[in-house]
Amino acid sequence: MAIRPIVRLGHPALRSPADPVPLEKLADPEFQTLIDDMLETMDDAGGVGLAAPQLGLPWQLFVYAAVDPDHEDDDEHEPELKVLVNPGIDPESREVVYDWEGCLSISDMRGLVPRYPAVLVHAFDRHGERLDFRAERYEARIVQHEFDHLNGIVFLDRMRDLRSLAFGDEWEQFMIRGEDSEGAGDG
Ligand SMILES: [Zn+2]
Repeated sequence: MAIRPIVRLGHPALRSPADPVPLEKLADPEFQTLIDDMLETMDDAGGVGLAAPQLGLPWQLFVYAAVDPDHEDDDEHEPELKVLVNPGIDPESREVVYDWEGCLSISDMRGLVPRYPAVLVHAFDRHGERLDFRAERYEARIVQHEFDHLNGIVFLDRMRDLRSLAFGDEWEQFMIRGEDSEGAGDG
């Protein structure tokens, strides 16, 4: 496994729609190595999600750490690492909720982003098995953030008021004091 460089805003891969992964490609050891590298790169960068376009690769593929919302600060509950290939998502309702997000491709910035609180996810796992599940709260937010990366969209595009945009230190100092936020992981 290896840590791969994460591309940042301005790289065309972050603004291009990704291609579906041909499922036979999942049998290619090099592609499995790519998935392992994505998990390692996400972990090394301290992120909660990473999409293939963030490595400059045009695949509909992302990985993320599905933190159990009831055990976020509990070190004994390791997040479940998920790999989604060719995902699709359907919001459960039109309602949106706001919370903080950051992005490994937009270093050190935070902003308030509206997202659906629950989504139905349809995808394949890394072995080509169908995955259909419901994601809610923080997991739903991560899935929507990473799914956007497969369509050339970053969280800045989803913000409705850029005045909440802040650098990490200033965000901690002035913006989240006393707030009950689930979000703000980098994806
Ligand atoms: Zn991101």
